[in-house]
Amino acid sequence: MAKEAVPMRVSIDSDVCIGAGQCALTSPDVFTQDDDGFGTVVPGREDGTGPLVREAVRACPVQAITLHEATEESRA
Ligand code: SF4
Repeated sequence: MAKEAVPMRVSIDSDVCIGAGQCALTSPDVFTQDDDGFGTVVPGREDGTGPLVREAVRACPVQAITLHEATEESRA
């Protein structure tokens, strides 16, 4: 039986982000940069799906990106 995909949630800790831009370079369909150059999640892409999202998480030099299973609250 096929395993159901677990809904995921991606977020960036803006207190940790240094604006290196690796996330937006690695996975531009999910991450972008704000006017000050800090990483943000593209609106509507908080589900963090995409082949390069995990790569972007790894690419962040300060581990500011979190990819975790969506909880009931975070899906609301
Ligand atoms: S790669 Fe990390 S430090 Fe750089 S913009 Fe993205 S979240 Fe911020």
